[in-house]
Amino acid sequence: MTDKIIDQTYRRYYSWLLRMGLVRSLTLSTMIATTVSVLCTAAVMLLMPDSRAYFWYNMIVAVASPLVSAPGLSLVAISMVYKLNAAQTALTLAAETDALTGVSNRRSFMAQAELAFASTRAGDAPFAVVMIDIDHFKTINDNHGHIVGDDVLCDVAQACKAALRSSDCFARFGGEEFVALLRGTEGADAVATAEVLRRTVAALAFEHRTPPAVTVSLGVASYLASSESLHDILNEADRQLYAAKAAGRNRVMAAANAMRLAS
Ligand code: GH3
Ligand code: MG
Ligand code: MG
Repeated sequence: MTDKIIDQTYRRYYSWLLRMGLVRSLTLSTMIATTVSVLCTAAVMLLMPDSRAYFWYNMIVAVASPLVSAPGLSLVAISMVYKLNAAQTALTLAAETDALTGVSNRRSFMAQAELAFASTRAGDAPFAVVMIDIDHFKTINDNHGHIVGDDVLCDVAQACKAALRSSDCFARFGGEEFVALLRGTEGADAVATAEVLRRTVAALAFEHRTPPAVTVSLGVASYLASSESLHDILNEADRQLYAAKAAGRNRVMAAANAMRLAS
Protein backbone atom coordinates (compact mmCIF):
# COMPACT_ATOMS: atom_id res chain seq x y z
CA MET A 1 0.00 0.00 0.00
CA THR A 2 2.75 2.47 1.01
CA ASP A 3 4.75 1.37 -2.04
CA LYS A 4 1.74 2.14 -4.24
CA ILE A 5 1.33 5.62 -2.78
CA ILE A 6 5.06 6.34 -3.17
CA ASP A 7 4.95 5.02 -6.73
CA GLN A 8 1.90 7.13 -7.66
CA THR A 9 3.38 10.25 -6.06
CA TYR A 10 6.65 9.70 -7.89
CA ARG A 11 4.86 9.22 -11.21
CA ARG A 12 2.84 12.41 -10.72
CA TYR A 13 5.94 14.38 -9.75
CA TYR A 14 7.85 12.85 -12.66
CA SER A 15 5.26 13.75 -15.33
CA TRP A 16 4.69 17.17 -13.74
CA LEU A 17 8.44 17.92 -14.00
CA LEU A 18 8.50 16.84 -17.63
CA ARG A 19 5.48 19.01 -18.44
CA MET A 20 7.01 22.03 -16.71
CA GLY A 21 10.33 21.94 -18.56
CA LEU A 22 13.80 22.35 -17.05
CA VAL A 23 13.96 26.15 -16.60
CA ARG A 24 10.48 26.46 -15.07
CA SER A 25 11.07 23.49 -12.76
CA LEU A 26 14.37 24.98 -11.57
CA THR A 27 12.81 28.42 -11.02
CA LEU A 28 9.83 26.97 -9.17
CA SER A 29 11.88 24.66 -6.92
CA THR A 30 14.20 27.59 -6.04
CA MET A 31 11.20 29.80 -5.25
CA ILE A 32 9.65 27.09 -3.06
CA ALA A 33 12.96 26.52 -1.19
CA THR A 34 13.38 30.28 -0.63
CA THR A 35 9.79 30.72 0.60
CA VAL A 36 10.12 27.78 3.02
CA SER A 37 13.44 29.13 4.29
CA VAL A 38 11.98 32.64 4.85
CA LEU A 39 8.88 31.22 6.62
CA CYS A 40 11.00 29.02 8.90
CA THR A 41 13.27 31.95 9.77
CA ALA A 42 10.23 34.16 10.50
CA ALA A 43 8.77 31.41 12.73
CA VAL A 44 12.04 31.16 14.67
CA MET A 45 12.09 34.94 15.15
CA LEU A 46 8.48 34.84 16.42
CA LEU A 47 9.30 32.13 18.95
CA MET A 48 12.68 33.63 19.99
CA PRO A 49 12.23 37.41 20.43
CA ASP A 50 16.00 37.85 21.10
CA SER A 51 16.79 36.77 17.55
CA ARG A 52 14.77 39.71 16.14
CA ALA A 53 17.79 41.96 16.82
CA TYR A 54 19.37 40.18 13.84
CA PHE A 55 16.23 40.50 11.64
CA TRP A 56 17.91 41.64 8.43
CA TYR A 57 20.94 39.41 8.94
CA ASN A 58 18.59 36.42 9.43
CA MET A 59 16.51 37.36 6.40
CA ILE A 60 19.54 37.74 4.15
CA VAL A 61 20.75 34.26 5.17
CA ALA A 62 17.20 32.85 4.78
CA VAL A 63 16.99 34.15 1.20
CA ALA A 64 20.61 33.73 0.08
CA SER A 65 21.13 30.10 1.23
CA PRO A 66 18.37 28.51 -0.90
CA LEU A 67 19.10 30.89 -3.77
CA VAL A 68 22.67 29.58 -3.88
CA SER A 69 22.06 25.89 -3.11
CA ALA A 70 18.60 25.07 -4.56
CA PRO A 71 19.32 25.58 -8.30
CA GLY A 72 22.37 23.29 -8.27
CA LEU A 73 20.72 20.56 -6.19
CA SER A 74 17.46 20.76 -8.18
CA LEU A 75 19.40 20.64 -11.44
CA VAL A 76 20.98 17.31 -10.43
CA ALA A 77 17.60 15.80 -9.46
CA ILE A 78 15.64 17.21 -12.40
CA SER A 79 18.26 16.33 -15.02
CA MET A 80 18.21 12.74 -13.70
CA VAL A 81 14.45 12.66 -14.34
CA TYR A 82 15.06 13.91 -17.90
CA LYS A 83 17.80 11.33 -18.52
CA LEU A 84 15.58 8.56 -17.16
CA ASN A 85 12.74 9.68 -19.41
CA ALA A 86 15.03 9.75 -22.49
CA ALA A 87 16.32 6.26 -21.61
CA GLN A 88 12.74 4.96 -21.18
CA THR A 89 11.70 6.44 -24.54
CA ALA A 90 14.72 4.85 -26.26
CA LEU A 91 14.02 1.49 -24.59
CA THR A 92 10.36 1.56 -25.61
CA LEU A 93 11.35 2.36 -29.20
CA ALA A 94 13.97 -0.42 -29.24
CA ALA A 95 11.46 -2.91 -27.82
CA GLU A 96 9.01 -2.07 -30.62
CA THR A 97 11.46 -1.88 -33.54
CA ASP A 98 13.04 -4.55 -35.70
CA ALA A 99 16.79 -4.05 -35.33
CA LEU A 100 17.70 -4.81 -38.96
CA THR A 101 15.02 -3.04 -40.97
CA GLY A 102 13.93 -0.26 -38.60
CA VAL A 103 10.21 -1.03 -39.04
CA SER A 104 7.98 -2.27 -36.22
CA ASN A 105 8.66 -5.73 -34.85
CA ARG A 106 6.25 -8.62 -34.43
CA ARG A 107 5.55 -7.85 -30.77
CA SER A 108 4.55 -4.27 -31.58
CA PHE A 109 2.42 -5.46 -34.51
CA MET A 110 0.58 -8.01 -32.38
CA ALA A 111 -0.15 -5.43 -29.69
CA GLN A 112 -1.54 -2.97 -32.25
CA ALA A 113 -3.49 -5.65 -34.11
CA GLU A 114 -5.08 -6.93 -30.87
CA LEU A 115 -6.19 -3.36 -30.11
CA ALA A 116 -7.57 -2.98 -33.65
CA PHE A 117 -9.44 -6.28 -33.29
CA ALA A 118 -10.96 -5.24 -29.96
CA SER A 119 -12.06 -1.81 -31.21
CA THR A 120 -13.51 -3.19 -34.48
CA ARG A 121 -15.39 -5.79 -32.48
CA ALA A 122 -16.72 -2.95 -30.29
CA GLY A 123 -18.13 -1.25 -33.40
CA ASP A 124 -15.26 0.85 -34.75
CA ALA A 125 -14.04 0.87 -38.35
CA PRO A 126 -12.89 -2.47 -39.83
CA PHE A 127 -9.30 -3.41 -40.59
CA ALA A 128 -7.38 -5.81 -42.79
CA VAL A 129 -4.13 -7.70 -42.52
CA VAL A 130 -1.67 -8.28 -45.36
CA MET A 131 1.00 -10.98 -45.02
CA ILE A 132 3.98 -10.39 -47.29
CA ASP A 133 6.77 -12.83 -48.09
CA ILE A 134 9.78 -12.15 -50.33
CA ASP A 135 9.92 -14.62 -53.20
CA HIS A 136 12.91 -16.97 -53.49
CA PHE A 137 14.78 -14.99 -50.89
CA LYS A 138 17.07 -17.92 -50.17
CA THR A 139 18.27 -17.70 -53.77
CA ILE A 140 19.04 -13.98 -53.30
CA ASN A 141 21.13 -14.88 -50.25
CA ASP A 142 22.81 -17.76 -52.06
CA ASN A 143 23.60 -15.74 -55.19
CA HIS A 144 24.50 -12.37 -53.69
CA GLY A 145 25.44 -13.10 -50.08
CA HIS A 146 23.73 -12.41 -46.79
CA ILE A 147 24.86 -8.77 -46.64
CA VAL A 148 23.02 -8.02 -49.88
CA GLY A 149 20.14 -10.13 -48.53
CA ASP A 150 20.02 -7.90 -45.45
CA ASP A 151 20.08 -4.77 -47.66
CA VAL A 152 17.19 -6.19 -49.70
CA LEU A 153 15.20 -6.79 -46.50
CA CYS A 154 15.81 -3.17 -45.42
CA ASP A 155 14.92 -1.72 -48.81
CA VAL A 156 11.74 -3.79 -49.12
CA ALA A 157 10.70 -2.88 -45.58
CA GLN A 158 11.33 0.84 -45.99
CA ALA A 159 9.66 0.99 -49.42
CA CYS A 160 6.53 -0.78 -48.18
CA LYS A 161 6.33 1.37 -45.07
CA ALA A 162 6.65 4.51 -47.20
CA ALA A 163 3.89 3.28 -49.53
CA LEU A 164 1.42 2.92 -46.64
CA ARG A 165 -0.44 5.60 -44.68
CA SER A 166 1.00 6.74 -41.38
CA SER A 167 -2.10 5.29 -39.68
CA ASP A 168 -1.19 1.78 -40.92
CA CYS A 169 1.32 -0.43 -39.16
CA PHE A 170 4.03 -2.20 -41.14
CA ALA A 171 6.14 -4.76 -39.31
CA ARG A 172 8.68 -7.50 -39.86
CA PHE A 173 6.92 -10.68 -38.88
CA GLY A 174 10.11 -12.77 -38.97
CA GLY A 175 12.84 -13.75 -41.46
CA GLU A 176 11.81 -12.46 -44.90
CA GLU A 177 8.15 -12.09 -43.94
CA PHE A 178 6.40 -8.82 -43.27
CA VAL A 179 2.89 -7.92 -42.22
CA ALA A 180 0.74 -4.82 -42.63
CA LEU A 181 -2.19 -3.73 -40.50
CA LEU A 182 -4.50 -1.54 -42.58
CA ARG A 183 -6.75 0.42 -40.25
CA GLY A 184 -10.18 1.47 -41.50
CA THR A 185 -9.69 -0.65 -44.63
CA GLU A 186 -11.30 -3.89 -45.82
CA GLY A 187 -12.13 -5.98 -48.87
CA ALA A 188 -11.37 -4.34 -52.20
CA ASP A 189 -9.45 -1.45 -50.66
CA ALA A 190 -7.18 -3.83 -48.75
CA VAL A 191 -6.54 -5.86 -51.90
CA ALA A 192 -5.75 -2.64 -53.79
CA THR A 193 -3.29 -1.58 -51.08
CA ALA A 194 -1.62 -5.00 -51.20
CA GLU A 195 -1.30 -4.59 -54.97
CA VAL A 196 0.39 -1.20 -54.42
CA LEU A 197 2.89 -2.95 -52.12
CA ARG A 198 3.53 -5.68 -54.68
CA ARG A 199 4.21 -3.13 -57.42
CA THR A 200 6.33 -0.98 -55.12
CA VAL A 201 8.64 -3.92 -54.40
CA ALA A 202 8.74 -5.08 -58.02
CA ALA A 203 9.77 -1.55 -59.06
CA LEU A 204 12.53 -1.27 -56.46
CA ALA A 205 15.90 -0.52 -57.97
CA PHE A 206 18.71 -1.67 -55.75
CA GLU A 207 21.37 0.91 -56.46
CA HIS A 208 25.10 0.47 -55.87
CA ARG A 209 25.01 -3.32 -56.11
CA THR A 210 24.19 -6.17 -58.47
CA PRO A 211 20.44 -5.84 -58.68
CA PRO A 212 18.69 -9.02 -57.63
CA ALA A 213 15.14 -9.06 -59.00
CA VAL A 214 12.91 -8.89 -55.96
CA THR A 215 9.23 -9.73 -55.83
CA VAL A 216 6.81 -10.48 -53.04
CA SER A 217 3.73 -12.63 -52.63
CA LEU A 218 0.90 -11.25 -50.52
CA GLY A 219 -2.11 -12.69 -48.70
CA VAL A 220 -4.96 -10.43 -47.61
CA ALA A 221 -7.59 -11.04 -44.93
CA SER A 222 -10.18 -8.56 -43.70
CA TYR A 223 -11.97 -8.51 -40.37
CA LEU A 224 -15.26 -10.35 -40.62
CA ALA A 225 -18.16 -10.47 -38.18
CA SER A 226 -17.43 -14.21 -37.93
CA SER A 227 -13.77 -13.63 -36.94
CA GLU A 228 -13.43 -15.02 -33.44
CA SER A 229 -9.92 -13.82 -32.81
CA LEU A 230 -7.03 -11.99 -34.40
CA HIS A 231 -5.44 -15.40 -35.06
CA ASP A 232 -8.35 -16.29 -37.37
CA ILE A 233 -7.51 -13.26 -39.50
CA LEU A 234 -3.75 -13.88 -39.45
CA ASN A 235 -4.29 -17.54 -40.36
CA GLU A 236 -6.51 -16.54 -43.26
CA ALA A 237 -3.92 -14.02 -44.51
CA ASP A 238 -1.28 -16.77 -44.22
CA ARG A 239 -3.46 -19.22 -46.18
CA GLN A 240 -3.88 -16.62 -48.90
CA LEU A 241 -0.14 -15.96 -48.94
CA TYR A 242 0.56 -19.65 -49.50
CA ALA A 243 -2.08 -19.70 -52.24
CA ALA A 244 -0.22 -16.78 -53.89
CA LYS A 245 3.04 -18.77 -53.69
CA ALA A 246 1.37 -21.86 -55.13
CA ALA A 247 -0.17 -19.80 -57.95
CA GLY A 248 3.27 -18.68 -59.13
CA ARG A 249 4.41 -15.90 -56.70
CA ASN A 250 4.60 -12.12 -57.30
CA ARG A 251 0.85 -11.79 -56.78
CA VAL A 252 -1.87 -10.82 -54.30
CA MET A 253 -4.45 -13.33 -53.11
CA ALA A 254 -7.46 -12.65 -50.92
CA ALA A 255 -10.27 -14.75 -49.53
CA ALA A 256 -13.42 -15.08 -51.61
CA ASN A 257 -15.33 -12.89 -49.16
CA ALA A 258 -12.80 -10.08 -49.76
CA MET A 259 -13.29 -10.48 -53.49
CA ARG A 260 -17.07 -10.33 -53.01
CA LEU A 261 -16.61 -7.09 -51.09
CA ALA A 262 -14.54 -5.93 -54.04
CA SER A 263 -17.28 -6.51 -56.61
P1 GH3 B 1 9.59 -18.63 -51.08
O1 GH3 B 1 9.45 -17.90 -52.36
O2 GH3 B 1 8.87 -19.92 -51.08
O3 GH3 B 1 9.21 -17.80 -49.90
O4 GH3 B 1 11.12 -19.02 -50.95
P2 GH3 B 1 12.20 -18.36 -50.00
O5 GH3 B 1 13.55 -18.75 -50.50
O6 GH3 B 1 11.95 -16.89 -49.87
O7 GH3 B 1 11.84 -19.02 -48.60
P3 GH3 B 1 12.70 -19.92 -47.66
O8 GH3 B 1 11.86 -20.09 -46.42
O9 GH3 B 1 13.17 -21.15 -48.34
O10 GH3 B 1 13.99 -19.07 -47.32
C1 GH3 B 1 13.94 -17.92 -46.52
C2 GH3 B 1 15.34 -17.47 -46.36
O11 GH3 B 1 15.38 -16.22 -45.66
C3 GH3 B 1 16.19 -18.41 -45.54
C4 GH3 B 1 16.89 -17.54 -44.54
O12 GH3 B 1 18.26 -17.80 -44.50
C5 GH3 B 1 16.64 -16.15 -45.03
N1 GH3 B 1 16.63 -15.15 -43.98
C6 GH3 B 1 15.82 -15.10 -42.89
N2 GH3 B 1 16.12 -14.04 -42.13
C7 GH3 B 1 17.15 -13.39 -42.74
C8 GH3 B 1 17.90 -12.21 -42.44
O13 GH3 B 1 17.69 -11.53 -41.43
N3 GH3 B 1 18.88 -11.84 -43.31
C9 GH3 B 1 19.15 -12.57 -44.43
N4 GH3 B 1 20.11 -12.15 -45.26
N5 GH3 B 1 18.47 -13.71 -44.74
C10 GH3 B 1 17.48 -14.11 -43.91
MG1 MG C 1 10.14 -16.21 -49.05
MG1 MG D 1 9.00 -17.16 -45.68
